[in-house]
Amino acid sequence: MPKILIVDDAQFMRMRCGKLLEKYGYEVVEAENGRQAVERYRECRPDAVLMDITMPEMDGLEALREIRKMDPAARVAMLTALGQQGVVIEAIKAGAKDFIVKPFEQERVLESLRKLLS
Ligand SMILES: [Mg+2]
Repeated sequence: MPKILIVDDAQFMRMRCGKLLEKYGYEVVEAENGRQAVERYRECRPDAVLMDITMPEMDGLEALREIRKMDPAARVAMLTALGQQGVVIEAIKAGAKDFIVKPFEQERVLESLRKLLS
């Protein structure tokens, strides 16, 4: 099954998202900030990444750039909040494939993963 890296500094978000993905048979790997996301990506080579933007240590935009530098084919969807349009534009330039607005609906997350993995 596809391996998905969930990156968010909020534990409840990782848990909620992780439970959903496991229910649909995905393998889940987690990271709690951008720096850890880059490390996990290097170790695990996930098939897709769901990436929060605002995080301590390293934010999602910087982590996206690092991951795409390491793997130009990396498939990353950003988890965004309302009012982050500026960051969204930067993330598109940096190669993000999709955007999921929080609080997310389960179907939206599954749809995004199908799109990323197709
Ligand atoms: Mg956050």
